[in-house]
Amino acid sequence: MKVTIIGGGVIGLCSAYYLQKEGIEVTVIDRGDITDGCSFGNMGFMSPSHFMPLASPGIISEGFRHMMSSSSPFYIKPRLNLDLMRWGWHFWKSSNAKTADNNAAHLDAILQLSRRLINEMKIDLGNNFSMEEKGCLMLCKKQEALDHEFHTADAAEKFGLKVERLNRDQVQALEPDVELDVCGAVLFKDDCHFHPGQFMQTLHEYLVTKGVNFQLNTEVTGFERSGDKINAVITDKGKIDADQFVIATGSWLPITAKMIGVKLLLQAGKGYSYTYPHVEKNIKYPAILVDGRCAITPWANKLRIGGTMEISGINNKVLIKRMEGIYSSVKNFYPGLQIDTPPADKIWYGFRPVTPDGLPYIGKPKNFDNLVIAGGHAMLGISEGPGTGKLVRQLIEKKPSSIKIRAFELDRF
Ligand SMILES: Cc1cc2nc3c(=O)[nH]c(=O)nc-3n(C[C@H](O)[C@H](O)[C@H](O)COP(=O)(O)OP(=O)(O)OC[C@H]3O[C@@H](n4cnc5c(N)ncnc54)[C@H](O)[C@@H]3O)c2cc1C
Repeated sequence: MKVTIIGGGVIGLCSAYYLQKEGIEVTVIDRGDITDGCSFGNMGFMSPSHFMPLASPGIISEGFRHMMSSSSPFYIKPRLNLDLMRWGWHFWKSSNAKTADNNAAHLDAILQLSRRLINEMKIDLGNNFSMEEKGCLMLCKKQEALDHEFHTADAAEKFGLKVERLNRDQVQALEPDVELDVCGAVLFKDDCHFHPGQFMQTLHEYLVTKGVNFQLNTEVTGFERSGDKINAVITDKGKIDADQFVIATGSWLPITAKMIGVKLLLQAGKGYSYTYPHVEKNIKYPAILVDGRCAITPWANKLRIGGTMEISGINNKVLIKRMEGIYSSVKNFYPGLQIDTPPADKIWYGFRPVTPDGLPYIGKPKNFDNLVIAGGHAMLGISEGPGTGKLVRQLIEKKPSSIKIRAFELDRF
């Protein structure tokens, strides 16, 4: 069997990984050279702890609260755009406790599946991507945020996750070299972190050695089909045929899917990061600054800070104020951390593919027999990547899936 995957982000490469393991001939097409993009400059968290979807109670009011501030962590740019309005309507409809709890169970399933699989991948690929299994701190500045995080910790325990509730001194004891100013934290012990760029590079190199064909700097512009079957993808370099096709184009999923008449609701959520190449006295634990709404990841002496969710379409505009907002949040939580404001010309940004309900799209469009679509993982593409790759393979081989995937159906909106 020949499978062609469109998109060489983490979802495309994890799908290639599981497909080639079955002896399937795989081609990955990407319009870039897969050295940058959303799957590279992110925070590198693999987070079973993140079972609560973005669309959850309180998020709408928080969005409105931040709307006017240019350094805010969450922002939806109002636009007269029908897709955005439909997306916003379904986002609002999903942001209630009942739907969020229901979706949390599905997120938990794919997150825990991925977490198990990354351990196998680490052995198979070799840990050249700085993976560490020390958990992730959810740091809180205010008691109110900590109370809420303790509540999430209770829910996490119900999903079988291991957590530790920490007061200010216990958090400080974990970071002996850097002074913190927080009221406490929850340590989610099942979370792990790695360097996402190194992971992508390691996976790419591994796939090349296993015979996966990469057609890079090649843009897909259409499909050739007969009836319910796709025969080939049309690219700016010619046609590429296969028996089965996977679309994994991240934030460009609606554009690619539209080429074959499939409509998907999805918005790009821009986020920023900056990586300090050398921090003398670095922190030891990756953390989410809960009421600072940003994140921080150490890899030995390297340190990445990042965050923001800016739903403003796909554009190359870098709002420096948002990165400054992240920096001041970090300094606020870690007054002892010796880092400077990120230089404006070195700020990285990427587009998270955000669905209205926080669940990914993983499935086959009803009117196509040989196509799988996988994407829309929002803030959790790294965390859900290995699980998604395995599910894609199972869909293509028409085998039972490792977890229930009905909630990820493409036509749910
Ligand atoms: C600041 C930030 C921090 C984040 N932190 C984390 C984290 O800690 N943990 C986590 O789990 N997730 C995190 N994420 C989210 C994660 O990065 C994304 O969910 C994930 O990278 C999406 O992967 P993808 O493969 O779906 O899309 P992408 O990585 O965007 O890949 C899609 C690929 O498709 C290609 N493509 C698109 N259209 C075409 C076309 N027509 N022809 C050919 N190729 C095409 C693109 O070039 C691209 O390479 C973060 C995101 C951001 C922005």
